[in-house]
Amino acid sequence: MPAEDLDSKEGFKIWSRIQEAKVCSRCGQKMNSKGLSFFNDEILCAECKEKEKKLPEYAMTAKNICDEAKAELKKSRKRSLKS
Ligand SMILES: [Zn+2]
Repeated sequence: MPAEDLDSKEGFKIWSRIQEAKVCSRCGQKMNSKGLSFFNDEILCAECKEKEKKLPEYAMTAKNICDEAKAELKKSRKRSLKS
């Protein structure tokens, strides 16, 4: 099976899980807006997502992603300078 198909299937599985979820995995509240946890596959309400954003671990992970993105950007800039 090509990797691409597997990715879209996984994406669909997560998407339908989010659609089906009625209450927050963390606080059990009914959700109006929802999102996937940054750390695991829990589906969280907006409030719990906000709380998660304030965790030091979140900042660290977000920073790492940011640094990776910056490194990628630098690489692509170098590439475009050469051509
Ligand atoms: Zn919640």
